[in-house]
Amino acid sequence: MCRDARQPVFLLLLLLAGGCVGAPTDEASPTVESEPTGEAPAPPLPTAQGADEPRDPSRTWVVLLGTGTPGSEPDRSGPSTAIVAGGNAYLIDAGPGVVRRASAAAIVSGLAALQPANLRVAFFTHLHSDHTLGYPDLILSPWVLGRAEPLRVYGPPGLESMTTALLEAYREDIRARVEGPERLRRDQLDVQTHEVEPGLIYDDDVLRVEAFAVPHGTWDHAYGFKLTTADRTVVISGDTGPFDGLADIAAGADVLIHEAYGAEGLRDRDAEIQRYHAAVHTSAVKVGEIAARAGVGMVILHHQLHLGGEPEKDLVEQVRLSFDGDVAYGHDLDVF
Ligand SMILES: [Zn+2]
Ligand SMILES: [Zn+2]
Repeated sequence: MCRDARQPVFLLLLLLAGGCVGAPTDEASPTVESEPTGEAPAPPLPTAQGADEPRDPSRTWVVLLGTGTPGSEPDRSGPSTAIVAGGNAYLIDAGPGVVRRASAAAIVSGLAALQPANLRVAFFTHLHSDHTLGYPDLILSPWVLGRAEPLRVYGPPGLESMTTALLEAYREDIRARVEGPERLRRDQLDVQTHEVEPGLIYDDDVLRVEAFAVPHGTWDHAYGFKLTTADRTVVISGDTGPFDGLADIAAGADVLIHEAYGAEGLRDRDAEIQRYHAAVHTSAVKVGEIAARAGVGMVILHHQLHLGGEPEKDLVEQVRLSFDGDVAYGHDLDVF
């Protein structure tokens, strides 16, 4: 896959130049690492369809909008994942850059549900800033760009007051856009906030979402989500310390999206950093153990922490110590 083709500007330039966007699309994704077995290769994953081939909108797609952490890595936007199904996009978290990444993903995947004006539903795992700095972007930018329906958001206690505070913070911007020449409609800037507890939190014709509590430092409310559509079950860990209960929750899921840090790298850091990350986040080794016990179809790593500067493949290999299914090291704009 031509990685530069994931960036819209490069995409356009490459199209004009007849570049690698039009290359054959049966190339295996570099993000999926499989142990050589000598057997016939497994059927290609959806990522193997090529970055420029429109995805079948009748299927459920997992789109990584941002795979980053609080770190300001230029190629990794803040954490945000989209489940696209039934013509809708459902976002999980809204890290910095979320609307631009959704716009890029719409171009790359051909999934119109990811166009900014179509972003209408979001679920928040927790309210850490790296997961919510894109929330004002999600509230305001799609409104400016034509979203005419309410934004519905679901998340832990505290989401309501954050929403109210953000709308107040942007009060003058909103006033200027409503009263000025843009003449935007204030009634179309409607944010419907739902503070939820673990359990079934969302159910429509396309998607059912169950929230479960995860341990994440001193947060009183941090969630993971199990998202079920007609053709796929996806479990996303949220930010979590090692959580054995996830193996039961994710049992038989098609996809487990999990945060991870490199176990080897952490051992090289000082004791305080080791204590923090070992309690607040999950090592790639542990992710593999959980995935194996759950028997999931595949693992996608996101929110990866390279505490020792180790290469991407190290985290994949650490998952594979226990789990022999497909393991993808997630990058922004990957589609599965
Ligand atoms: Zn985080
Ligand atoms: Zn967090």
